[in-house]
Amino acid sequence: MLDPPEFRKNAHEVVDWMADYLEHVEKYPVKSQVTPGEILRQISEEPPLIGESMETLLKDFQQVIMPGITHWQSPNFFAYFNANSSYPSLLAEMLTATLGAQCMIWETSPAAAELEQRVMDWLRGMLGLPEHFVGVINDTASTATLCALLTAREVATQFAINREGFAGVEKLRVYCSGETHSSIDKAVKIMGIGKENLVKIVTDPSLAMNAARLSDAVENDLASGCKPLAVVATLGTTGTTAVDPLRKIAEVCKSHQLWLHVDAAHAGTALLLPECRWMIDGISQADSFVFNPHKWMFTNFDCTAYFVKNPDLLVRTFEILPEYLKTIPRGDVKNYRDWGIPLGRRFRALKLWFVIRSFGVNGLQEKIRDHISWARELSKEISANDSFELMAPVPLNLVCFRYKQKGPETSLDDLNKQLLFKLNSSGKIYLTHTRVHGRYALRMCIGQTNTTRQHVKNAWEFIQATAAEMAVSG
Ligand code: PLP
Repeated sequence: MLDPPEFRKNAHEVVDWMADYLEHVEKYPVKSQVTPGEILRQISEEPPLIGESMETLLKDFQQVIMPGITHWQSPNFFAYFNANSSYPSLLAEMLTATLGAQCMIWETSPAAAELEQRVMDWLRGMLGLPEHFVGVINDTASTATLCALLTAREVATQFAINREGFAGVEKLRVYCSGETHSSIDKAVKIMGIGKENLVKIVTDPSLAMNAARLSDAVENDLASGCKPLAVVATLGTTGTTAVDPLRKIAEVCKSHQLWLHVDAAHAGTALLLPECRWMIDGISQADSFVFNPHKWMFTNFDCTAYFVKNPDLLVRTFEILPEYLKTIPRGDVKNYRDWGIPLGRRFRALKLWFVIRSFGVNGLQEKIRDHISWARELSKEISANDSFELMAPVPLNLVCFRYKQKGPETSLDDLNKQLLFKLNSSGKIYLTHTRVHGRYALRMCIGQTNTTRQHVKNAWEFIQATAAEMAVSG
């Protein structure tokens, strides 16, 4: 067991290591270059019977663990969507870990509950969401979407499924586009309506949901005796950041009284910019909305902001009140344990508070605006280059493109797979891929906290040079 002086000494060393790491993160290969099992083989098969020194642990952390880390905080990380950190967020996480508070009910840390309430209100205003939305922090967007669909299920069946199970309930149907994130498929499986009842609506050439086809699908289902339940509209799909037409979808939901859940896991952060709020035209009709500050808003994973129009419905879906949790009645304080799936809750509001106050709204906007404008610049460069092709519109900070050579369409898929492999094995940058209308495309997301315009330019030059080398070596 460490004693207080030892803890102080080790903590100082760790903080120094953290500062050095972040300052020099570019020296590491962005994507970990280890092979499967390489780390596992170095970890003792049995736990130690006698405690080891912190020196030994920290040495092993450097030697065994670090080679197996992919560096999400590298400014050359352009893969997936970001999972950003920032100095204020890190400091808050250190405090949260130190307090070790479990913030399930108001009494177990009143400051956590009241800060959560306040920062969720701040976020609602910062994103231009409707005043009637009320927010709660979740771990992930997957959880928030599950909460949304469970609430929709209970509301549509007058809370009968919670009470009696599914006996006698018609086929419940949920709708989303074919480009929607897999967390919706997972939520539908968990909520028990059967994954065959998730209806994937075709998309337009822009890869956004076709609202007319949604309307047709709902009407067909009604005609065949199914019960349409909810629609999930995505703002910023994972593949290409396509934006579903919210107002038109909202009209379909309104005419059939369907729950409208909006998944803006990544793109929600762009709503900090008034010029991006065209995406939420029609939002006042939505029943629930989710976005992840832990993606693009410089807040350490995990931190998801979930907003609902009617918190009473959410609470009614999840509320269970055993004797040992009975405290002050709900009307007086917010007991967030009733607002979602887990009972235990981390103190996540602190890092959001630190991030928002340290950057300021203007500081956050500036960064997001830069990312979007660098993505646009890159997309223009790609369009102007005969050896490359832009594969999808670039409404935000994600650029999908591919390398072109003469040859059949299918050979381009392989060519781009090879290019991606070469780029990522270099350790210099990290990109991922998607399929756009069935064709293999590289995805480059420009959104890391410390990425500069120069990083984007360097990455683009490196991509062109690597592709040119492939052309020469044939
Ligand atoms: N929705 C969209 C559009 C996403 O892109 C993602 C993840 O990238 C998710 C949901 C899932 O997010 P989480 O990992 O927070 O569950």
